[in-house]
Amino acid sequence: MTRTVIPKDCIVCDVCNKQLSDSQFIALDYCFWYEGWLYCNDCNKEHKPMRELKLIMEIQKGQDVSNTDLALPIIMEFGD
Ligand SMILES: [Zn+2]
Repeated sequence: MTRTVIPKDCIVCDVCNKQLSDSQFIALDYCFWYEGWLYCNDCNKEHKPMRELKLIMEIQKGQDVSNTDLALPIIMEFGD
């Protein structure tokens, strides 16, 4: 098994790819973290999740999210 770890340098909106934190994972904007999805405030208003997504956290501008799962590196595993 080959394991590749891709560190994140910030968090982005999963809908429009807008950057939502700086490199220290301090939020740049108000955003909504649903299970498996991160929505910026604009996308949350315009594209209300179609099905009921579980809201994990509302993130305020200036909030430190470096100790949450959002800041964890992306781990990709490939079978040999
Ligand atoms: Zn967005």
